[in-house]
Amino acid sequence: MTWDLPLWQSLLPIGRHPATGGYRRYSFTEADSGCREWFKNAAAERGLRVECDSVGNLWAWLDVRDDLDRGGAIVAGSHLDSVPDGGAFDGPLGVVSAFAAIDLLSERGPEPVRPVGVVAFVEEEGARFGLACLGSKLLTGVVAADVARDLTDSEGISFAEAIAGAGLDPGLVGADGGLAERVAAFVELHVEQGSALDGMGAVVGVAESIWPHGRWRIDFDGRADHAGTTRLADRRDPMLPYAATVLAAREAASECGALATMSKVRAVPGGANGICSAVHAWLDARAASEETLESLVARVMECARGSADQHGVTVTSRCESFTPVVEFDRDLRDRVVTALARRGTTAPVLPTGAGHDAGVLAGVVPTAMLFVRNRTGVSHSPAEYAEPEDCAAGVEALAAVIEELACR
Ligand SMILES: [Zn+2]
Repeated sequence: MTWDLPLWQSLLPIGRHPATGGYRRYSFTEADSGCREWFKNAAAERGLRVECDSVGNLWAWLDVRDDLDRGGAIVAGSHLDSVPDGGAFDGPLGVVSAFAAIDLLSERGPEPVRPVGVVAFVEEEGARFGLACLGSKLLTGVVAADVARDLTDSEGISFAEAIAGAGLDPGLVGADGGLAERVAAFVELHVEQGSALDGMGAVVGVAESIWPHGRWRIDFDGRADHAGTTRLADRRDPMLPYAATVLAAREAASECGALATMSKVRAVPGGANGICSAVHAWLDARAASEETLESLVARVMECARGSADQHGVTVTSRCESFTPVVEFDRDLRDRVVTALARRGTTAPVLPTGAGHDAGVLAGVVPTAMLFVRNRTGVSHSPAEYAEPEDCAAGVEALAAVIEELACR
């Protein structure tokens, strides 16, 4: 197959910002409703039955005859929402590839003996309501409906209001207790968010685990003052311990082979000619083990406290989200690797530092992930890119996996 799919082309213009070329597909906005229309059309063109669950996640089903049905469905998919000015591939590649894999299967494959589904989860990036993988976390009960309903976006619009605006009933939001019974396996294909596959000379990889990761909010409280009249010695400037903490996070992460990022910061009130009264900062940290992650975060907080003391600033912190290590189902992974090897594709098994809906689903149903090579490794950026031949190889791999799981 080739990657010049009308399905992909028709999704590309939706939610792309003309000035940056990046995507702003935030949940339950106009761009998102364009994506949802696109999904429903893609399903209709293939004769798939569309369902929207209580959370707003979209499902397209290829049903099987009752006399063939051997039980739980095989579902592939990913998400259609984006980070601010995100790339074209993160999320949509998995949804487009799932539809394209169903096309390949119906062209060449044996008839499925299990239902096959395509899913697009809402709010995976957490770009609008601040909680990543919200759609899959609600569906699996990892996040309670009450907590989700009260989440607000930057304009104060609550999740409950947003989904009501999309025609859903906020009162019905909640976990699907029948998920594990209905879905026998979930496979998420995703563009690689790094360049490990390129280094190995491989086009497609299989996920081993997702590193434990979390987000911490750190608040530095000092004293607002005049930039021109307050002597350096008299200042209680929260920007200084904040700056020391950013550097400490980088150093600690580098020393323990982990990742730490402090990219979100708010200076209050944030005038150029005044000392801030407060700095609100966020730490994103990820490591291969929970022990390493704990000690990394402890080191960063220790530095924050030490430096805050030196500058007469108080510091408080709290964990906003934490996701423990996710080990994907070993049997399913072995089956995926073997199915690919039979078709001549050597798919290395690798860990990743990025969270995914697949990591959330893994707590409830056997789950696997396929990664498609990203030669530059750039992601969450308009420059994110995967070669057309690699995307086509990803569809071939996904079709092989669905055939293995759904047609036997
Ligand atoms: Zn993604």
